[in-house]
Amino acid sequence: MNQILYQGRKINKKKVVGAVVISVTALIILLVFLINGINDSIKIEEAEKQKKIELELKRKEEAEQEARRIEEEKRKAEILAKLYNPISEKEFVKLDNIYSHSDTKRVLLTFDDGPTEAVTPFILDFLKEQNIKANFFALGTMVERYPSLVKREYEEGHFIANHSYSHKYSQIYESVETVIDEYNADNQLIRDAVGNQNFNTLIFRFPGGSYGGYYADLKAEAKQKLRENGIASIDWNALTNDADGADTKEKIMENLVETTQDKSSIVLLMHDASDKILTYETLPDVINYFRENGYQFQTFFDVMGREY
Ligand SMILES: [Zn+2]
Repeated sequence: MNQILYQGRKINKKKVVGAVVISVTALIILLVFLINGINDSIKIEEAEKQKKIELELKRKEEAEQEARRIEEEKRKAEILAKLYNPISEKEFVKLDNIYSHSDTKRVLLTFDDGPTEAVTPFILDFLKEQNIKANFFALGTMVERYPSLVKREYEEGHFIANHSYSHKYSQIYESVETVIDEYNADNQLIRDAVGNQNFNTLIFRFPGGSYGGYYADLKAEAKQKLRENGIASIDWNALTNDADGADTKEKIMENLVETTQDKSSIVLLMHDASDKILTYETLPDVINYFRENGYQFQTFFDVMGREY
């Protein structure tokens, strides 16, 4: 009996079973699709959440990085703003002791009368290669001629000090005021050359030295006046005689050894004037000598204890 009577109609039983199977299958497929769909949307939601968290973290990290960068820039700006302030009493004491003693052996290489095209770039190249910072006592008339070399000295971290504008004794030592005028003229030229109007040379070296001679009294008075304005005057306690007759490497080294012996704190006088190529040529020997004897190379900032 394959046929049953349903609401007055004859229905094939096989067909009913078939319809039920198809319906159930369709329902299952529908359910599977539905569940899958729900699962997918949950997955998408989770992925989006994860993405959001990651983005948030990245943003936070970037914000922290930016804050650190701003802080570092602020710190650098603060150092730079104070770097050229007048010398304080505490710093003067340190500079006053520069010829006498240092706990760690140190040497300040100083070069007078430049910059010059014939010598200064070679000295700068060599110092850069050796990673040594030196001190340049720039002369106003030469700064006028070679401002880009002064800028290079500045950018490469050397100390730029003041050696007057003219180097003419009769002109500089006419009065205390003319000494100050010469300091100011050179200072302004260097400011313009380095492109920083907050720059100050801070250290003055009297042409011919700050002691003795025909202008001794005037120099002493000018020295005091400079000090009142936060400017130190520095001579030297060792030299190579590169400007006074030492015309071979051997003679330069002899003078160096003779004048530096038993000193723990050395201010070495040298020159980068246009006829002093021998000074550059002897520089490797000079530097070797100090390295072998355990000296540190310093600038006046190091002596003062200023961060730069
Ligand atoms: Zn000089």
